[in-house]
Amino acid sequence: MVRTLRSRGSRTVPAVVAALMLAAVGHADRAVKKYEQHSMDRERPPQASAKPVTMEPPSDAIVLFDGEDLSKWTSTEGEEAPFIVKNGYMEVDPDEGSIKTKKKFGDCQLHVEWASPKPAHGEGQHRGNSGVFLGIPGKTACYYEVQILDNYKNETYADGMAGAIYGQYPPLKDVCRPPGKWQSYDIIYRRPRFDDDGNVEKPATLTVFHNGVLVQDNEALIGPTAHEDRPSYTPHGKLPIMLQDHGHPVKFRNVWVRPLDESKR
Ligand code: MG
Repeated sequence: MVRTLRSRGSRTVPAVVAALMLAAVGHADRAVKKYEQHSMDRERPPQASAKPVTMEPPSDAIVLFDGEDLSKWTSTEGEEAPFIVKNGYMEVDPDEGSIKTKKKFGDCQLHVEWASPKPAHGEGQHRGNSGVFLGIPGKTACYYEVQILDNYKNETYADGMAGAIYGQYPPLKDVCRPPGKWQSYDIIYRRPRFDDDGNVEKPATLTVFHNGVLVQDNEALIGPTAHEDRPSYTPHGKLPIMLQDHGHPVKFRNVWVRPLDESKR
């Protein structure tokens, strides 16, 4: 939009557009920061039951995991991916490390199926914790997590439940299935845009369907998703997708991604 207006020779409208964009960032900032992070007092969303969406990859998707091998993945250090592949799924090998895609992605649609360990072990955040990330904590300028957690009959803070944008937005519904049951995420990620000076023009946004139910509705992130911290943005472009090792043997299958037309935003 800015480019179009500039091409018409306008000097004032882009400034107005930029101001509106900054206002949008400020709105997201206020929406998130009116709640104390990880507060157990924050209201948890109502429950609903739903089955996972187990669709085949569309013909234009990049298949990241088809149940056979980890050829599209490495460790976060760029070495052999440490997850275990068996019976058509891959599983976190606890404390051996997260995995990341070799390829980096900007705006994209991402499908992931996952299952928490059965029987369940631990409580709160220590039960079936993993996550689907764009970016890698400590390695890329920013990182954004859609939380994976077994919060089925397991109380935790709202902004850390399954389907939460970790530490920022609780899911709109709690549709977490019991331990061992397959669940699906369909995620639409729009990367943040920065101007030449590194200012945020458009924040990152996430839309998430958990078991087919809308749990994040085009939410604007205020920066990376951290634990007990709400850091600010650092400019970046495309990021690898990461599946988190949080010490629990969470399973994954049918992982694919569709890069989206970035001119549409
Ligand atoms: Mg996590």
